[in-house]
Amino acid sequence: MHLSEQDLAPSIGESLASYIRRARTSLGLSQKELAERAGIHAQSVGKIERGQTKRLKQEPKRGLAHALSIPVEFLDAICLGRTVDAIAALRFCPQCWVPGTAPDPMWTTPRSKYCFACGTELCDRCSNCKEPVASLRFRFCPYCGKSYKT
Ligand SMILES: [Zn+2]
Ligand SMILES: [Zn+2]
Repeated sequence: MHLSEQDLAPSIGESLASYIRRARTSLGLSQKELAERAGIHAQSVGKIERGQTKRLKQEPKRGLAHALSIPVEFLDAICLGRTVDAIAALRFCPQCWVPGTAPDPMWTTPRSKYCFACGTELCDRCSNCKEPVASLRFRFCPYCGKSYKT
């Protein structure tokens, strides 16, 4: 089954607990399987899903993002209580970004304007129709079909 990437984007006001549970079950993973993939204790996953863990440390956060194939920014945004609009301000280098992978955090820090590696101006929207990038796990713009990568 191929999941739509947007299904795994956090909803407005969604808690970390319900988001992790939703992302995990949509991938068909048990808590134990998710914990193994993320390199954390199964008990930690249980605590997150029961709402006992509100903030994630760097390591488990990266592990969970990797295990769920989501950008770390999704988890950051949820922990900070940001809305999907803020999450949607994703930026990438049209030269260096590998479509279908999470963007380098160097591109998505709010102050970055140019690629740290090649100096190209970063993009946060489709170069063709100018719609904001909904998810960098899409290779093509869902509005006009143009590839995000130039
Ligand atoms: Zn670049
Ligand atoms: Zn477009």
